[in-house]
Amino acid sequence: MPTATTFEVKTQKLFIDGEWKDPLTQESYPTINPATEESVCNIAKGGPKDVDAAVRAARNAFDGGEWSKLEAKDREKILWRIGDLIDEHADELAYLETVDMGKPIRESRNVDVPFVADVFRYYAGWATKLHGDTVPGRGGHFAFTLREPVGVVGAITPWNFPLLLTAWKVAPALAMGCSVVHKPATATPLTALKLAEICREAGLPKGAHNVVTGPGGAVGDALVTHPGVDKIAFTGSTSVGVGVMQKAAPSVKRVSMELGGKSPLVVFADADLKAAAAGAMVAIFYNKGEVCAAGSRLFVERKVHDQMVELLVERAKKLNIGDPLDPNTRMGPVAMKSQQDSVLGYVEKGKAEGAKVATGGKADKVNGKGYFVHPTIMTGATNEMTIAREEIFGPVLTVIPFDGFDEGLKLANETIYGLASGVYTNDIGKAHKFARGLKAGTVWVNMYNLYDPGVPFGGYKQSGFGRELGEAGLEGYTQTKSVWINLPK
Ligand code: NAD
Repeated sequence: MPTATTFEVKTQKLFIDGEWKDPLTQESYPTINPATEESVCNIAKGGPKDVDAAVRAARNAFDGGEWSKLEAKDREKILWRIGDLIDEHADELAYLETVDMGKPIRESRNVDVPFVADVFRYYAGWATKLHGDTVPGRGGHFAFTLREPVGVVGAITPWNFPLLLTAWKVAPALAMGCSVVHKPATATPLTALKLAEICREAGLPKGAHNVVTGPGGAVGDALVTHPGVDKIAFTGSTSVGVGVMQKAAPSVKRVSMELGGKSPLVVFADADLKAAAAGAMVAIFYNKGEVCAAGSRLFVERKVHDQMVELLVERAKKLNIGDPLDPNTRMGPVAMKSQQDSVLGYVEKGKAEGAKVATGGKADKVNGKGYFVHPTIMTGATNEMTIAREEIFGPVLTVIPFDGFDEGLKLANETIYGLASGVYTNDIGKAHKFARGLKAGTVWVNMYNLYDPGVPFGGYKQSGFGRELGEAGLEGYTQTKSVWINLPK
């Protein structure tokens, strides 16, 4: 099994202009394994001057054209090679992700890392395929459009899918010829640093991809306000996203926002209840519930409510908590102590507002350590309670009964968020009608939490704007130039 120690020296450095560099701050901080509560290794604590150096490197790579003007077929080859190297280093990447944020290795090794490799190969193909149009103009003119890279991209990512959400930004940005300065989440920088090493090995020119680790305030702010950055691709909480938009506004930076969620999963009485219960488990307990699209509000048609709760409780009790590096573990620790406190605080708030804990609701330890939370199901809840309104971002499901199609849809849409949603029914007409009524960027029918590099993902309402994945995921990394040619009369 790989270990973090083989990687330790580089993790104390920043990746700028194709090289590992000491932070100008000369400071570092430990990254904590939430299963052992111990430091994995020290990480460079970058600051505004480091961001400036990284942006200058990215600017030079972009303006100099070594990457931005490289032929699309050559960019394609390098991106494809990155995908293949990710496969080659899959064990190490999965290990780093798991020790950094507690994700069960069965998820990081079997789902996240292979998907990351696929995302790079998917966007490798797009490098040669996105192009402008010719436009049937009026009079003696000929007009056509060029799709040009937007420039230097500041990518800011959260801690719940550290590598995956990095790939969703870095792969399309590079495919279009942009250069990138990436600021990973403070608590989970390891796979971003490993990816930098992989990109260099794949032949990415210096400066095209840079990584600056460190605190959100200092590093994130410096990136968002830097005049050399053309676009900010942000994934994180709605509150931080609002601040990022405000700070990006004076320099009119392009921004894309992938923000929080409180996604509904609606189960009609005519559904296959066993399948729905299995889907609801994946919806809320995958990655310990630390999923922006988590189906954290479960609406069950009243006549099957009790039966459904019984099925859910039975299944939740079987999800074994354990060492996330053990391939049999289904529930790892939540990513941080502060997150454990926050999740359990929501459970208490739910109880105080009248909801009941059907199962879970408490902390645990494995071998005397770790920030574990038992898979939790809360019943007797209403859509007005805090546990149904605010993003808990942990393994806590709020179950609410409803009566009929209209009430189900109304309750599902009664939220400030609109990231994802799901519906279980055996009535195909009802499924279609419900899917159209849901105000969310993704609707899963008789399934939940499925992703594909070709299918766009993103939010309605306060869950953000812009899309990642698919062709739509390229839009934020290009701009359209219209060229007019005066034809001789
Ligand atoms: P967060 O908003 O606290 O942090 C996100 C990133 O922003 C981190 O890298 C952080 O260091 C950085 N940051 C913090 N302050 C900053 C500042 N002032 N300027 C610039 N950057 C700053 O979010 P988090 O706690 O890391 O992640 C959880 C949140 O992310 C949840 O709300 C979740 O729903 C959301 N999320 C959304 C999606 C999506 O696709 N919509 C995906 C995953 C997570």
